[in-house]
Amino acid sequence: MEVSMLCTRVSLLILILSLCSPYKFIQSPMDFGPLNLLPTTTTASSDFGRILFHAPAAVLKPQSSRDISLLLSFLSGSSLSKVTVAARGAGHSIHGQAQALDGIVVEMCSLPAEIEFYKGGEISYADVSGGVMWIDLLEQSLKLGLAPRSWTDYLYLTVGGTLSNAGISGQTFKHGPQISNVLQLEVVTDFLLLCFTGRGEIVTCSPSKDADLFNAVLGGLGQFGIITRARILLQEAPQKVRWVRAFYDDFNTFTKDQELLVSMPDLVDYVEGFIVLNEQSLHSSSIAFPANVDFNPDFGTKKSPNIYYCMEFAVHDYQHKNTDVEQIVEVISRQMSHMVSQLYTVEVSYFDFLNRVRMEEMSLRSIGLWEVHHPWLNMFVPKAGINDFRDLLMDNVSPDSFEGLILIYPLLRDKWDTNTSVVLPDSGSTERVMYVVGILRSANPEGGCSHHCLQELLRRHRRIADTAGVHLGAKQYLAHHPTPSGWHQHFGWRWERFAERKTRFDPLRILGPGQGIFPRRDDSAAYGS
Ligand code: FAD
Repeated sequence: MEVSMLCTRVSLLILILSLCSPYKFIQSPMDFGPLNLLPTTTTASSDFGRILFHAPAAVLKPQSSRDISLLLSFLSGSSLSKVTVAARGAGHSIHGQAQALDGIVVEMCSLPAEIEFYKGGEISYADVSGGVMWIDLLEQSLKLGLAPRSWTDYLYLTVGGTLSNAGISGQTFKHGPQISNVLQLEVVTDFLLLCFTGRGEIVTCSPSKDADLFNAVLGGLGQFGIITRARILLQEAPQKVRWVRAFYDDFNTFTKDQELLVSMPDLVDYVEGFIVLNEQSLHSSSIAFPANVDFNPDFGTKKSPNIYYCMEFAVHDYQHKNTDVEQIVEVISRQMSHMVSQLYTVEVSYFDFLNRVRMEEMSLRSIGLWEVHHPWLNMFVPKAGINDFRDLLMDNVSPDSFEGLILIYPLLRDKWDTNTSVVLPDSGSTERVMYVVGILRSANPEGGCSHHCLQELLRRHRRIADTAGVHLGAKQYLAHHPTPSGWHQHFGWRWERFAERKTRFDPLRILGPGQGIFPRRDDSAAYGS
């Protein structure tokens, strides 16, 4: 064994011993050979939700996949260790999913931000480091006239972070979630070996090579390995986008039109929608939409509120193709049943369209409303239950005081690969459509929503999630379940496969402790089930 390797092993053994010790962890930066573990920071113990703050014992800022591999290999090789590891992307989780209480947080953004492009006749793709943010991939790919096909609404999220969930937005009905647009992954994982110890191995996997690992990691909530590189499918980027918003005063008409639009993928490139509960929700979601919206709804009274809905869709404009985009919008809107004269269209650059939430962020930051609590709840709802879900939602929100946004838009099941780890509602019937509903709430302590109020909002969201789960077959997206049994229920019949994948790729349950799915346990018990 090389001397440097021996030093690293000794250093890591010391690390493991110190992490297992009952005494509080050393406070100064620790140089463990090539692995420079740093003391914890506020960033490593917080996230966008601002609800949970679990401090790790140390932080790793990896310079390469090998650094992560070394860490996992030593932790899994030690029968003493009970240390857990969480990859942290941009930390935009809500409930501490990227945190590791007393464990090690791996800051993925420290990996060199490499992006390499391949532009072919039939297929183009980008090889991207797992810690790269989607905004950086967009900026680089646009220089070549290319862009990923499937997005999230907000782009300051990392590739590894969204691929660990699904990555959805208004393009999902057409191209599937981001996890349906990945050709290959490089993953550092902890394959179970015959001698019953794991090994931090760097594996390149795809649908045709190590497909089990590939499928497990996509939507795998960080449980099976750390994504250090992803090959993302690209398409030609349009220069401009025609962006349309139409208002409704009836929920059924709103959803019927949304379903009409997702049935026209040859014409439409993006479909979303949101509930207009009050003036604030009308105004806040209009910041990035540069049209003169002349909509003055009557919101009724507190006792008898009037609720409105806004559907938005977009059509890409490839200017060299000379397509008449306005004509396409005209063809589509003629088939819609929105409120009379309540349809607005604007033309924006493709970049500004995709980066629209950044504008909302800047506006919220400027008034101190970005770094507040975010008790968010996202749910996939079967089409058959969407009306009941709306009613359940309305029973649990007060339209006059709701702060934030409620998104509702349809997705198509056949754009999702059921071999991945993602959990969707059971189809039950042959329904192709399901909905995603995002209750994206802000709770500002300085605006009167401090601890008690936040706990009450979280309780209400749990009530919605539980009721919709039991009665409508809905499933949480970006799920949070406080107990392992809640996770069992969440996965339902898929639990066995998920647990088997855990036993195979992370037998010691080192990875992803912040999700709370698999509590860390003694090595002796690790191979029992
Ligand atoms: P983190 O929060 O850092 O991590 C999330 C999980 O992934 C953790 O379990 C972590 O351990 C794991 N993880 C992180 N990196 C890796 C890696 N390289 N390998 C393995 N596991 C890893 N989501 C959507 O789908 N659509 C949207 O439109 C959307 N809009 C959003 C808008 C805002 C303003 C915010 C704050 C979030 C939004 N999200 C959306 C949610 C977002 O996709 C998830 O929170 C995602 O996890 C954030 O990515 P991140 O890089 O911050 O991941």
